[in-house]
Amino acid sequence: MSSDIRTAFDKASGTKTPRNPSRKSIARVKNPLPAPTRCRYCNAEVELVGNEQIYRRAYGEWPWAYLCTDLECGAYVGLHPFTAIPLGTMADAELREWRKSAKDAFNPLWQDGLEKRFSRSGAYAWLSGQLGIDAGACHVGWFDIGECQRVIFACGNIDQVSL
Ligand SMILES: [Zn+2]
Repeated sequence: MSSDIRTAFDKASGTKTPRNPSRKSIARVKNPLPAPTRCRYCNAEVELVGNEQIYRRAYGEWPWAYLCTDLECGAYVGLHPFTAIPLGTMADAELREWRKSAKDAFNPLWQDGLEKRFSRSGAYAWLSGQLGIDAGACHVGWFDIGECQRVIFACGNIDQVSL
């Protein structure tokens, strides 16, 4: 099916898909990034796909992704639930690992547990100050490898760096 026909089908059937997204969910996303059309690694076209093309099975409550059409590249990014808005910038395997490590370092600072010391918003305010990145752009899904490394450093040295 062409994407126009899919869009018409989704709207007519009422099924929520990235082509027939939830307006409420869109409104909740601050600073939405545009949907990627070209891969930032290899410049191939980017396609909206069901994420079973990445994980073999549909994964999560909103199983969609923007995927590079160059299979050897394989860069992708997920979507904010019930929208067509990408969660961040396209990531290849190396960057995905760095982002995962950055989240593993950062999330315990605000999630319930022994390392918790901030509210979620307080943690992001602290992080944006540490990185010198505007709070509206301080999302791990937007970061490059160097920024992920700085997140890991700042979180690992939280008792040494100034709060
Ligand atoms: Zn690519």
